[in-house]
Amino acid sequence: MSKSLRILVPVKRVIDYAIKPRINKAGTGVEKTGVKFSMNPFDDIAVEEAVRLREKHKNLVESVHAVSIGPAKAQDILRTALAKGADTCTLIDAKEAELEPLAVAKVLKRVVEAQNANLVILGKQSIDDDCNNTGQMLAGLLNWPQATNAAKIELDAARGRVQVTREVDGGEEIVSAALPMVVTTDLRLNTPRYATLPNLMKAKKKPMEKLTLADFGDVDTQARLQTLKVEEPATRSAGVKVGSVDELVEKLKAAKAI
Ligand code: AMP
Repeated sequence: MSKSLRILVPVKRVIDYAIKPRINKAGTGVEKTGVKFSMNPFDDIAVEEAVRLREKHKNLVESVHAVSIGPAKAQDILRTALAKGADTCTLIDAKEAELEPLAVAKVLKRVVEAQNANLVILGKQSIDDDCNNTGQMLAGLLNWPQATNAAKIELDAARGRVQVTREVDGGEEIVSAALPMVVTTDLRLNTPRYATLPNLMKAKKKPMEKLTLADFGDVDTQARLQTLKVEEPATRSAGVKVGSVDELVEKLKAAKAI
């Protein structure tokens, strides 16, 4: 593996993880006005991992390119990715359109080809739609191997392979594949760095390619799903304190719970 690793990191702008989303009046989705948006946390981990791979393997990693499909404001999270160490980025302005994972994966496939990327590191899941689909669909469309839920990523430079440790129920699974490949990140892969103010300032000078969804006019981005209704979970009724185990048993019997 000469200096030949071109990493693509797709990043999504989502409602900040610390915000408790509220359902809109129409009951069709969550309220987005006046709410703080940030980079999807798993994508932040993906950016961090790409930057760490470059720091560790200076001679192998040629470029780290971030891409976001979303509203024009998604440029904020792209600037953050640049401040954290990505070299270049692409904003694909989708206006108000909220693309489903298949449509995102189809557009990302085009970006992979345009960037000649050979390693794509995505978040395992967007915290807004919770789909956990895009990485897998992208790997399928590209016909590349995939390793999802990565807890550790190691480059085997001599063999041109990537080894990924995956967290699975009750343990770890270690898989390895030859490049090109798709990896999705799990929570414990790393702890992302903060974007410092000086780096955010410097990031303003880094290149941002601006495209629109119309530039991918021949890609079918049509929605397949229709949201019928979005509801808050039912509120729990207040509990009561019992004085003894006997009283507890009595109450459970009365409630027909036992
Ligand atoms: P999902 O399948 O929606 O749970 O998303 C999984 C991952 O795909 C995210 O963590 C991102 O890395 C990537 N992704 C999803 N939607 C977008 C988007 N609109 N723009 C860029 N990357 C995205």
